[in-house]
Amino acid sequence: AGNMGMEQLIPIVNKLQDAFTQLGVHMQLDLPQIAVVGGQSAGKSSVLENFVGSVSAVCKSNSDHLLQSPPPPLLCRHNCFYQYNQKSVACIEILNLTLIDLPGLTKVPIGDQPVDIEQQIKNMIFQFIRRESCLILAVTPANTDLANSDALKLAKEVDPQGLRTIGVITKLDLMDDGTDARDVLENKLLPLRRGYIGVVNRSQKDIDGRKDISAALAAERKFFLSHPSYRHLADRLGTPYLQRVLNQQLTNHIRDTLPGLRDKLQKQLLTLEKDVDQYKHFRPDDPSIKTKAMLQMIQQLQTDFERTIEGSGSAQIN
Ligand code: GDP
Repeated sequence: AGNMGMEQLIPIVNKLQDAFTQLGVHMQLDLPQIAVVGGQSAGKSSVLENFVGSVSAVCKSNSDHLLQSPPPPLLCRHNCFYQYNQKSVACIEILNLTLIDLPGLTKVPIGDQPVDIEQQIKNMIFQFIRRESCLILAVTPANTDLANSDALKLAKEVDPQGLRTIGVITKLDLMDDGTDARDVLENKLLPLRRGYIGVVNRSQKDIDGRKDISAALAAERKFFLSHPSYRHLADRLGTPYLQRVLNQQLTNHIRDTLPGLRDKLQKQLLTLEKDVDQYKHFRPDDPSIKTKAMLQMIQQLQTDFERTIEGSGSAQIN
């Protein structure tokens, strides 16, 4: 079965956001966020790039200039995809993707930095990843020891049950000959509730050689299908699968959000109608008309949404 794609979700979320803007602050939609957490060079940006298209090196080197408002140090490269194509912008805005580099956690204060800088940084990261609506992609390279993964340690602190943590194992192609990550990917070594998804991103050589994303995805697929340790898992590995899982998250979130929103609007409408009734003779503009229109819009949106996800079978998360 197919799955609802980002292309179908984006217009729905955009309409929702328009609706919220019109309604003002009372109807803040807590949109899902994704934090990509991992050590330096773990492959965080590579993982993201595979979703949002060709953003790559330019983004990294220019991120300081592109940032709308500077993020706290080390909670970096947030929203740095801004000026690329429409699609990247939409993905980033909707999902609020954030990259979190972890080496900063163990940094020794430099110069006039406060002595508790480590704790301050940790607090900042926690503020972000402890939100229930934040999905944590804990990125660990396959050629390092999973038991020492800072990403997993951090995720455990805020999400001990692993309800919103997805393990992402990168660099499977860089493991020593004769070793593999089968145990990890079969979720046997350090089991996570949602398991691990292995990916093979572009190497530095691929990037320098301008290998494009579609070629990289084809190579990734081939890698898994031709590897004796991964072949049997191939349907649950790779970038497209990770993307399906994330899309599913967003879909679920919207599905869960719409009914509550409708209820809120219905209540607001009732109150307004009472008010209007009371002041009918004094004011010509009826504020309930706007709310009624909004309510209709949300209802229509919900119908559209349900129709869109109907038959778009779900990508089950472990
Ligand atoms: P970040 O610092 O966590 O954002 O890491 P990057 O995404 O920038 O990746 C660091 C380096 O590792 C880059 O040169 C990537 O090309 C390379 N890299 C990332 N993932 C993989 C992978 O799965 N396989 C290989 N061969 N190289 C990778």
